[in-house]
Amino acid sequence: MGTKVLFLTLHAAREIMEGFDTIIVGAGSAGCVLANRLSADPAHRVLLIEDGGDNQHPFISMAGGFVKIMGRPQYFRSFPVAEEAGRRKEMHSYGRGLGGSSAINGTWYLRGEPEDYDGWAAQGLVGWGWDDIARCFRTIENYRAPGADPARGSDGEVQITPSTYASPIFDALVEAFASQGMPFASDVTAPGCHVGRSQYTVSRGGQRVSAYDAFVKPIRNRKNLAIIHPAIVKRVAIRHGRAIGVVCDREGSETTFTAACEVIVAAGVYGSPALLQRSGIGDGGLLQALGIAVVRESGAVGRNLCDHHKLGVSFDLANHPGTNREFVGWRLYRNALRYFLTRSGPLARVGLPITGMIASSGQAWPDFQVAAAPFAMRTINEMAASPGSPITAKPGLTFSGYHLRPRSRGSVAITTADFRTAPRVAGQIWSDPYDRDKALELFRLFRRLAAAPALAGYIGAERMPGADVIDDDALCEMVHKMVEYGLHGTGTCTMGVDPATSVVDARCRVHGIAALRVVDGSILPTPVSGNTNGPIMAVAQRASELILADRHR
Ligand SMILES: Cc1cc2nc3c(=O)[nH]c(=O)nc-3n(C[C@H](O)[C@H](O)[C@H](O)COP(=O)(O)OP(=O)(O)OC[C@H]3O[C@@H](n4cnc5c(N)ncnc54)[C@H](O)[C@@H]3O)c2cc1C
Repeated sequence: MGTKVLFLTLHAAREIMEGFDTIIVGAGSAGCVLANRLSADPAHRVLLIEDGGDNQHPFISMAGGFVKIMGRPQYFRSFPVAEEAGRRKEMHSYGRGLGGSSAINGTWYLRGEPEDYDGWAAQGLVGWGWDDIARCFRTIENYRAPGADPARGSDGEVQITPSTYASPIFDALVEAFASQGMPFASDVTAPGCHVGRSQYTVSRGGQRVSAYDAFVKPIRNRKNLAIIHPAIVKRVAIRHGRAIGVVCDREGSETTFTAACEVIVAAGVYGSPALLQRSGIGDGGLLQALGIAVVRESGAVGRNLCDHHKLGVSFDLANHPGTNREFVGWRLYRNALRYFLTRSGPLARVGLPITGMIASSGQAWPDFQVAAAPFAMRTINEMAASPGSPITAKPGLTFSGYHLRPRSRGSVAITTADFRTAPRVAGQIWSDPYDRDKALELFRLFRRLAAAPALAGYIGAERMPGADVIDDDALCEMVHKMVEYGLHGTGTCTMGVDPATSVVDARCRVHGIAALRVVDGSILPTPVSGNTNGPIMAVAQRASELILADRHR
């Protein structure tokens, strides 16, 4: 597939490859769904371009292995975050290679709440309400555990399995959560406030299910689907207000691929706005300062960055061995062997086994996601005092959670026209004081859970900041250091009806540019109330329906 035209310049060979109808940039959670759906018609020629490699490392298919490869440039794209006063320096690493972030994430699966999506429809985004999105979840899900919510899908591509962790401490944790307004539910992804077994994008055979595994691997031999990697898209080629293809760097040589139908950018929450900006779509002042010709003035590109705020607290654990010891010393080797022989054991699932959803004060639907495990990492203070492995054998118990609907907004902007330089991320974690109040409320919920009678006998000393830190100001200072970005970024190419404040319309088309769409986490106008991989795959499923409908029109 693809007609090749070679241009020789004084500097390097430049190729033009023709013969594709649709080009998808980025093989992450969204890009893989799109590649599957949009290539279902054998007459439609699809090209999927991905910056990274094939992600075939055994530490990727073993969900618990991601800790071992965390941050390695082969599997992660890293983005420096502008420093915030009173906080640690941060670097955000999202996935790279086939599967994108779904190939290296924590595999925790949730859907978000109906109100999240109905809120989008209420903003005028026709076709994005819960009824439509619930259907898309059903289409992609393959969940067959007993007690599944009737709304779940059981025949889709994405295998999802619940935690199987069993221990008296699990039962005690369930009771503690119930004491705080979260009764036990047999399916934690069902809407509303409750606690349940965490669910993971891990197959019934014990292997991570990335979006690539689910959607592309089984169909990669389609003759009308070409996958090119590693190749980084430098910019979208736009002529007379219409996207006509993409200009790529493939190990130092430049190739232009043309698209007869359209280009779809699915490069992730930082990659997509950066690519639009390098293509001349963005804030005119920024682009001109970097010497980039303005194709379409759009101040919304890179704005509205939202991320879940993550917070955790660990306690010493008494009268229970905990699971820390499973990840150090001879037990780690035993568990690795067990995993490779039977695809089971502590390394087959990485997440905290129990998930609770609860609405904070004044909220009508859950905006705190809380998890717990008889496991603890060393605290940031301990790590600063003596760097080394974050895991020791010392038993601990952790509550960890997200504030799911923060009001602070950050931004992403390129700092040079060079495609090799990562864009600058400004997170601004507590720029809205509402988020500071919610962080304190979440932290106090952790302490109430720890104090629940069901956990008496298990819980020892609070490790950080320590039970003696109680007044608002002192707690606030510590929590401000401890709170992290959830790596669930959304909103930087936001979908909306007003071209002045959004980047794409309700059919994911970039305002003002023909034949160009964005489909990935960057288009979510507001955050969803749960981890983002599942929702982003469902959003891509919904986008594929709209794109196919447009194609047939
Ligand atoms: C460490 C980590 C842990 C997480 N844990 C969880 C979890 O447990 N559960 C959950 O639901 N969510 C989790 N998430 C979030 C979730 O995985 C992401 O929100 C989701 O996968 C993002 O999907 P996406 O399609 O928007 O982008 P990605 O999946 O990030 O895909 C973007 C792809 O585009 C490629 N790309 C970018 N620019 C270019 C370019 N110019 N040319 C070519 N290719 C390009 C990238 O290499 C990447 O493969 C986690 C995220 C991280 C980083």
